[in-house]
Amino acid sequence: MNPFEPLTREDALSSWREFLPKVSSYAGSRNHVQSGHKNVSRLGPCIRFRTLLEDEIIQDTLNEHTFQVAEKWLQEICWRRYWRGWMEMHPEVWRRWRKQVRFLPQTLPSAILARAEAVSAGRSGVACMDAIARELIETGYLHNHARMWWASFWIHVEQLPWELGADFFFRHLLDADPASNTLSWRWVAGLQTPGKTYLVRLSNIEKYAPVYLRENETGSERLDDGMVSARVPQDIEFLERTPLVDYPTSFIQTTGRTGLWIHTDDLLPEIGPLAALAPATIAASLSERVYKTTYDLSPQRIASLRTVTHDALDRASAHYACPAVVVQAEDPVLGLGAWARDEGLAEVVAFAPLIGPVHDILARLKLHLAKLEIRLTLIRRPSDATAFSFATAGFFPFWQKMSRLLNPPLYSKSAP
Ligand SMILES: Cc1cc2nc3c(=O)[nH]c(=O)nc-3n(C[C@H](O)[C@H](O)[C@H](O)COP(=O)(O)OP(=O)(O)OC[C@H]3O[C@@H](n4cnc5c(N)ncnc54)[C@H](O)[C@@H]3O)c2cc1C
Repeated sequence: MNPFEPLTREDALSSWREFLPKVSSYAGSRNHVQSGHKNVSRLGPCIRFRTLLEDEIIQDTLNEHTFQVAEKWLQEICWRRYWRGWMEMHPEVWRRWRKQVRFLPQTLPSAILARAEAVSAGRSGVACMDAIARELIETGYLHNHARMWWASFWIHVEQLPWELGADFFFRHLLDADPASNTLSWRWVAGLQTPGKTYLVRLSNIEKYAPVYLRENETGSERLDDGMVSARVPQDIEFLERTPLVDYPTSFIQTTGRTGLWIHTDDLLPEIGPLAALAPATIAASLSERVYKTTYDLSPQRIASLRTVTHDALDRASAHYACPAVVVQAEDPVLGLGAWARDEGLAEVVAFAPLIGPVHDILARLKLHLAKLEIRLTLIRRPSDATAFSFATAGFFPFWQKMSRLLNPPLYSKSAP
């Protein structure tokens, strides 16, 4: 297993078991960037694809550590759900970002595009930032601090459009998450919390990541404290909050053949509200053409999507005791439609996709299945429904509500 790639359920559980005792030292050590990154969990990909649930992590953590000792860790685990919930209520942010990723390369002056290309290839001339870019391309992983510094360097030092930097991360990070990535980049740019930008400082890198400076300090004077000033965002837009879609949180099986559709927003159907489903067949779509042409994902990213999808299908097939197939059609909507029709399904059941690539095909899929007279039923995990409903403002009001749920004795030890 690549240490930055705990993707399958088995690898996820073993990485998590190894990290659990380190939760007690996490708050004090997490900001340091060490080679090998053993002071942080590197669980990003399995949490993002849900081969390991946040609910499982929270439960194990509280079984092993007190809330007080584990609070920082629990907060970080909950950040992703905060961003996810916020994005569910601001889907326009994802749509606008994707639009800009398509539009900017057609409209920006070629000198800016060439600079963006050089910086993301690790040829900016600032050695520590170039080491970070190369680490991302080679391993698909970056420590949180490195993500913050590099995003700030891109936006505030290089004065490049945040949307293209976020796209570079999205194409390479093995834990690339539509909400965490887009919204963290907006936060560094000063768009997410108006008036607040994140500025990279050399003293901060010296303190937390001497590993990046040890071999080569070329160009680091560009990051000297006081040298970097915030690039004031020009494009703060008015964002209206849309209500959270109220998906059912449990499923009652009706008569007629049911198929289970599994996708990369939640690859653990055998735990939670779909565990007792009795599907006749299971499918997941893997559309490598879409990954390449629409998202231009790195080969490593595409390979990781393949791994997690096959792992989930194998587990699901064993759990539900029915056949599970990969739908490889060029168009995932037509592929899933053909699967459902050929299997004679009356209903397709799935976890509700979250704002992002899977959600982007949802409207067409609903329409297509409706034309085939096949019902599509989408379910949300109860714990997601609760957490997302708290994400209406900043993280701290969210955390106040979450911590009331997690802090014993109120925390329920029932299964997720
Ligand atoms: C510019 C930028 C882009 C980012 N893009 C992503 C992304 O695409 N996907 C992603 O999962 N995270 C993203 N993050 C958040 C964070 O950097 C990563 O979650 C974390 O570094 C993953 O490494 P880890 O698993 O070793 O983290 P750990 O410190 O071990 O944390 C454990 C888990 O908690 C969650 N978490 C921790 N910190 C954060 C955070 N700040 N925001 C959201 N969740 C967090 C993640 O699920 C993480 O795996 C981004 C942050 C920045 C500044």
